[in-house]
Amino acid sequence: MKVLKFGGTSVGSAQRMKNVAKLIAGERKIVVLSAMSGTTNSLVEISDYLYKRNPDGANEIINRLSMKYMEHIEELYGTEEYKQKAKELIKSHFDYIRTFTKDLFTLFEEKVILAQGELISTGMMHLYLNELGVNAVMIPALDYMRTDKNAEPDPIYIKEKLTRLLNEHKDADLYITQGYICRNAYGEIDNLQRGGSDYSASLVGAAIGAEEIQIWTDIDGMHNNDPRFVEGTSPVRQLHFDEAAELAYFGAKILHPTCILPAKLNNIPVRLLNTMQPDAPGTLISNVMEKGKIKAVAAKDNITSIKIKSGRMLLATGFLRKVFEIFENHQTPIDMVTTSEVGVSVTIDNRKHLEEIVDDLKKYGTVTVDENMVIVCVVGDLEWDNIGFEARVVQAMKDVPVRMISYGGSNYNVSLLIKASDKRRALQALSDHLFNNK
Ligand code: ADP
Ligand code: ASP
Ligand code: MG
Repeated sequence: MKVLKFGGTSVGSAQRMKNVAKLIAGERKIVVLSAMSGTTNSLVEISDYLYKRNPDGANEIINRLSMKYMEHIEELYGTEEYKQKAKELIKSHFDYIRTFTKDLFTLFEEKVILAQGELISTGMMHLYLNELGVNAVMIPALDYMRTDKNAEPDPIYIKEKLTRLLNEHKDADLYITQGYICRNAYGEIDNLQRGGSDYSASLVGAAIGAEEIQIWTDIDGMHNNDPRFVEGTSPVRQLHFDEAAELAYFGAKILHPTCILPAKLNNIPVRLLNTMQPDAPGTLISNVMEKGKIKAVAAKDNITSIKIKSGRMLLATGFLRKVFEIFENHQTPIDMVTTSEVGVSVTIDNRKHLEEIVDDLKKYGTVTVDENMVIVCVVGDLEWDNIGFEARVVQAMKDVPVRMISYGGSNYNVSLLIKASDKRRALQALSDHLFNNK
């Protein structure tokens, strides 16, 4: 069985929902849906008002959003019967959201509010398919998708529960489920972080040993650079799991950073497809590596670099351990590392404990912090005996100040640290140089 995930834009209007219903007709499959585009952002905004104890602000957004849904309903359903059913569905979710405007508001209530977007979109699609006469069955994510005490998905629990739920509905034509939402180890409603519906799809795919996981979005696959910043990008037809994972981790928004791992561990191909152009080939992500090719570039924002420099024998035995331990003690993962005899530079994307980290590092040397940096990651077959590739990357950056370069950590990437203000021109220069022969 295949797992098909449709993102926010793909279900962003009544017309788009109708298109999705056409795309999912045919053989039995599991369909994972995001919230309609803009909804999760509105739910975040509602929560923000409630944290600030401004129920009027929250109510204004709630009313605006629920009116929008009432318009979608008028357009989506053909019969009065189903319009009525859908109106009741929407009303119950928005009445529920309104109950949170009266009491104490905490992280727990916020998670419940954020979950409503996917609950609504799947509820609407379920009703629409039933109106069309499709025997679609809802498999509630909150009944099987679960994280453990470390907030990591619990694959054994997910597999057991999901298999049981699917077996209870063996005669269904189609299964629908929510992306993004889950329960935590204590059974409370939680989520897999923004953009996490991709992760839901790959966890579902891994749990059932799917034949393929399809991520349907608003672009024809993974492009060779970020189309939001660079002109003249083009789709990459084939990627290795590791290449795709690097690109997702280093900022290619088309994929949630962690969604490749479950597919890779279970060797399930992932196909990226375009809802607006369903016949386009998209991108196939699998365990096949195309030799001798630079594939794509991605950029990760909001990076801070920290340099520790000392006149003493800095890299003597145990020094790096002490440095890394400081980051570990403050639960701050490191992205990039470069070393020299007198110093070491690292980057982090979580600044929560920056002050304490810098304080602790000062025991070992002079500490310099650079903020507002970006990691640019060039991905492809970059094995060290493939000569000339790093040279081309560095050559492309000849007019851009580069703070760090990291190569050799894997066979798949070269990473460069630059200023955020240089991001656009650095990405464009890499595209021109590596892909467009300029
Ligand atoms: P969805 O709502 O379907 O999950 P997203 O907005 O999360 O969609 O991801 C699709 C978007 O990712 C595209 O519209 C595009 O702007 C952006 N994007 C960033 N980098 C890339 C890339 N390298 N290739 C394709 N799309 C990318
Ligand atoms: N709806 C969620 C978000 O906007 C999850 C997703 O779309 O993947 O972040
Ligand atoms: Mg997404």
